Amino acid sequence: MTVLVKGAGVAGLATALELGRRGLAVEVVERRADIGLGASHWAGGMLAPYCEREAAEEIVLTSGLAAADWWDEAVPGLVQRGGTLVLANPRDLADLKRFASRTRGHRWLGEEEIADLEPDLKGRFGTGLFFSEEAHLDPRQALRGLYQAARQLGVSFRFGEGAGDAGDYASVVDCRGPQAIGEIQGLRGVRGEMLYLETAEVTLSRPVRLLHPRHPLYIVPRGNGHFMLGATMIETDDDGPITARSMMELLNTAYALHPAFAEARIVETGTGIRPAFPDNVPRLIKTSEGLAVAGMHRHGFLLAPALAREAAERLITIHTSERRRTA
Ligand SMILES: Cc1cc2nc3c(=O)[nH]c(=O)nc-3n(C[C@H](O)[C@H](O)[C@H](O)COP(=O)(O)OP(=O)(O)OC[C@H]3O[C@@H](n4cnc5c(N)ncnc54)[C@H](O)[C@@H]3O)c2cc1C
Repeated sequence: MTVLVKGAGVAGLATALELGRRGLAVEVVERRADIGLGASHWAGGMLAPYCEREAAEEIVLTSGLAAADWWDEAVPGLVQRGGTLVLANPRDLADLKRFASRTRGHRWLGEEEIADLEPDLKGRFGTGLFFSEEAHLDPRQALRGLYQAARQLGVSFRFGEGAGDAGDYASVVDCRGPQAIGEIQGLRGVRGEMLYLETAEVTLSRPVRLLHPRHPLYIVPRGNGHFMLGATMIETDDDGPITARSMMELLNTAYALHPAFAEARIVETGTGIRPAFPDNVPRLIKTSEGLAVAGMHRHGFLLAPALAREAAERLITIHTSERRRTA
């Protein structure tokens, strides 16, 4: 009795790991040549349940609280627990106050406390919010780590072919991400453009969100002078290259955070399509072949742990009751 997992993005890999941990035989089929080349490839890797609550439902916060611990256990040594810094230019102070009123788990910082946390931002911002309980990780390393952990548990992988129907599998978990748009009811695409900058002139220790009335963006340090700069939120499933407008908005944000980013090299640009339901809440869907872990939206790394666990528990329950029925 083997469970088929369709897709090796963060949802599929986390689900395969949780199924493997429960002793089920699991096969992951990925249509691309390697793991994690879909939406998951472009993620910021922020595990930021408190900040996300600003625009997301309470369940995103409560389900996301355990994410950092889950990742720590699954891929030891990767999670960085330095918190999140949220800043705004003085003219956008109202946005910072609004952000504070819609979130919790933060404290206000003055200029000196900001400089204590991020010395390179000294003298640049007078006020900020600090979410000390939040974390981040490098998503590409995280996906590689999940893959290795799943393989160690005996999960098998096939690459370079689209998964077909259930065939002889005991059940199917559909983790096709944005490829399920048009097949899972209500699912839509939200385009996210990002880029990587490289500079030795700026050091940051944690994700920094810079609020702006039109383009609230963030910078996530990746180490070795690399910074992930993201991300646009555009209602389309067009995954074509980053537009000039988006690139300018992203670069303006980096420049507003620290002018030394003007000299940074742009080493990578990319576009990912976030699969999302109308309420933007990721969820498990019952399908004719089993389950779908779908609509991960902005929260793939934050909520894959909770949904993968839930999917594994649900499948175990389904299998146990089927075995009882046929016994
Ligand atoms: C720019 C950007 C920044 C983001 N930042 C964050 C962040 O900081 N924190 C966070 O938690 N989330 C973030 N997200 C959201 C997160 O990346 C997504 O929610 C998540 O990657 C979705 O994962 P998934 O596994 O559902 O989809 P995907 O990663 O797209 O994986 C689906 C996989 O299924 C495969 N597939 C499709 N069809 C088939 C088939 N028929 N057979 C076999 N395989 C198939 C695809 O090739 C793909 O590998 C961000 C997203 C973007 C775009």
